[in-house]
Amino acid sequence: ATGPHWDPLRKELALTDTDCIFCKIASHEIPSTIVYEDDLVIAFDDLSPQAPVHTLVIPKDHYRDITDGVPAETLAAMTHAIDEVARAKGLTDGFRVITNKGADAGQTVMHFHMHVLGGKPLGEGLL
Ligand code: 5GP
Repeated sequence: ATGPHWDPLRKELALTDTDCIFCKIASHEIPSTIVYEDDLVIAFDDLSPQAPVHTLVIPKDHYRDITDGVPAETLAAMTHAIDEVARAKGLTDGFRVITNKGADAGQTVMHFHMHVLGGKPLGEGLL
């Protein structure tokens, strides 16, 4: 069930899907290794890392994917979080950011997230 619920920390209505695993990570109901967090976003390490550094940056509010009407303020907060992840993880030689939407991209968790990958040379190709 997706809908607004009162967030006592933010003192405002938040968009939540009660069945969504990333919503539960955002509310600390499910534990994760948190790398960065602010009012709008949270960054945590991926459960099955595809690179030495593999951290996910998500909005705390529930949006299905990058095309689901994500507010500019939230996108800016995600950009900032990516920078914080890079700093925290020491990604001084660069990194890659990927977001999947839909079946062809293989999206498995239907809560918008950006993968931050790095910690080794990733190669020149995108795939
Ligand atoms: P997608 O394929 O949807 O772009 O990526 C979903 C990512 O979420 C995958 O890389 C997967 O390993 C990660 N993931 C799925 N469930 C959990 C979880 O409960 N905790 C964490 N930390 N990562 C998860």
